[in-house]
Amino acid sequence: MNEIPLSARPVRVRFAPSPTGPLHMGGVRTALYNYLFAKKHGGAFLLRIEDTDQARFVPGAEEYILESLRWCGIVPDEGQGVGGPHAPYRQSERKPMYRQYAQQLLDSEHAYYAFDTPEELEAIRELALTAGNPNWQYNSITRGSMKNSLTLPAEEVERRLASGEAYVVRAKIPRNEEVKFQDIIRGWVSVHTLNLDDKVLLKGDGMPTYHLANVVDDRLMDITHVIRGEEWLPSAPLHILLYRFFQWEAPGFAHLPLLLRPDGNGKLSKRDGDRLGFPVFPLDWHNSETGETASGYRERGFLPEAFLNMLAFLGWNPGDNREVFSLAELIDAFQLHKVHKAGARFDFEKAKWFNQQFLRNLPPASLAHLLKDDLLRRGVAVPAPAYLEKAAVLLLDRAVFSSDLYENGSYLFHAPAHYDAEMMSKKWTADSPARLRILAERFAALPAFSAEAAEGVFKSYLTETGLGFGILGPVLRLAVNGVTVGPSVFDIMALLGREESLKRIHAACDAN
Ligand code: GLU
Repeated sequence: MNEIPLSARPVRVRFAPSPTGPLHMGGVRTALYNYLFAKKHGGAFLLRIEDTDQARFVPGAEEYILESLRWCGIVPDEGQGVGGPHAPYRQSERKPMYRQYAQQLLDSEHAYYAFDTPEELEAIRELALTAGNPNWQYNSITRGSMKNSLTLPAEEVERRLASGEAYVVRAKIPRNEEVKFQDIIRGWVSVHTLNLDDKVLLKGDGMPTYHLANVVDDRLMDITHVIRGEEWLPSAPLHILLYRFFQWEAPGFAHLPLLLRPDGNGKLSKRDGDRLGFPVFPLDWHNSETGETASGYRERGFLPEAFLNMLAFLGWNPGDNREVFSLAELIDAFQLHKVHKAGARFDFEKAKWFNQQFLRNLPPASLAHLLKDDLLRRGVAVPAPAYLEKAAVLLLDRAVFSSDLYENGSYLFHAPAHYDAEMMSKKWTADSPARLRILAERFAALPAFSAEAAEGVFKSYLTETGLGFGILGPVLRLAVNGVTVGPSVFDIMALLGREESLKRIHAACDAN
């Protein structure tokens, strides 16, 4: 199936999260795919906050959603936080608009009033359960024996409404019909209406349910494609029916595959939090009411571009072996109809790999900037910009996160606080100080101090003494770095400068 029919209106898509907690990374992927699709087709990407279920409202969740998108660089063209011609974009503020649409469905007999109290419904469910039916539904069959405007006499309905009795408005699902639609990712989806229930559309307090508000807003906001998680697939037939009841053209639908846990065992849910050893949220989260906290990719040290690239590949790839994509390149390559049907298994090691690629591709100045932020956070004195850049480039090889630069190379920012005990016992001998002091003398005597010159001194000393590199190299490293791993010790010494290098060599000789 094509993504866009030829005669189509300009593409308008929306990300419509409910502020019921922190945004799951699957939600960010949904936002990303919507964004990529919109930008690819020169369309608009909207952000709508679906907060009609007040009982599930969580303070701070909406701010969290906005902040997450901002961090990722997924900027809405229109919507909550940016405004636009269809404002307000928060459904709770649109409440008065929905009533008339419920009325329209009542008038056209596609919806009806239901007066059954929550207690009555509960009692029926209990009864059904004891009779061996745990799946009782208010549907095209059972509605005939319930308290609603289809079963009660018209005057009685009038009387109940006039006296302000509590009611809900339910969708009147046709009894014997196959509802079909073509999903852009899944192809034909077909559901028999006997499997659908008469969902509540408008609640007693006049608030619409998700289904009514979602369909009405998609229409009012001129949405051409609904791109959302697979968990909404069961709702799609009802939505298709609502479009038909309203006599509106339905948008295209694309239901994205689930994100699966690394072992493929079930979906990666919000509840997985940090349990699996990696974050499932874009940013750190803290619920001020419950005290619940969870960690995020940003604070874990991920670059937003790497996070997006990784997410884009959970359920899609360009069909060749390219993997590292900027946002602009993703826009260019993305094809909604090529998104996979099967769940996408999350792999944290791969996520880290993406971060490493982006870190390596950063210009030295940006790398230095990240390093500086990290040093400031740690309270480590920040060297001059030129030094920072060289240090960052030198330490880049082994870094996955910008914080690894300092973690693997703290010796570039201060003298080693201690010497690697294991390597000391293996490599440092009674002769080491005397040998290092000779080297130090020769380093001191060099007309100009550089990595090449220091290496020259070192090598001729090896030839002269017949010592192997494996004997003296680690000793020099231990003296300068405190550890035996890392970039070339001569490059390090050149960056530290002659004075600091000599100071460290003497200090190590004095201390060991
Ligand atoms: N409010 C729904 C959610 O939280 C939106 C589903 C849809 O996109 O239709 O995911």
